[in-house]
Amino acid sequence: MKLEHIGIAVKDIEASNKLFEILFNSPHYKMEEVASEGVKTSFFKLGESKIELLEASNEDSAIAKFIAKKGEGIHHLAFEVVDIDFEIDRLSKEGFQLIHQSPKDGADNKRIAFLHPKSTNSVLVELCQEKA
Ligand code: ZN
Repeated sequence: MKLEHIGIAVKDIEASNKLFEILFNSPHYKMEEVASEGVKTSFFKLGESKIELLEASNEDSAIAKFIAKKGEGIHHLAFEVVDIDFEIDRLSKEGFQLIHQSPKDGADNKRIAFLHPKSTNSVLVELCQEKA
């Protein structure tokens, strides 16, 4: 596995795009809405890894709930895997709790699945695999 990106929950993605563009001295390279998740995302490339900003696009979105509870900040770590179906099966046999039992479509041309933070020391972990 390798660290693919770090997801950061933000209240205002346009304002945060500007902030992180100055911080990284580099513009975001894409914005994408994932309607099924109720999120707007934007991506920055930093060497081997990326930063994903996430803004809620409706109040039922997991990002809206996260910000209401914890405020803005680091939301999840995403690890790229070679075979996401295999990893879901392997980790569930190892006793990890999965939020998604099968991969779903995520942003940035990926199939994704989340592990429940209860089983990962309170870190929300995303598994992702580039779509062929
Ligand atoms: Zn992510």
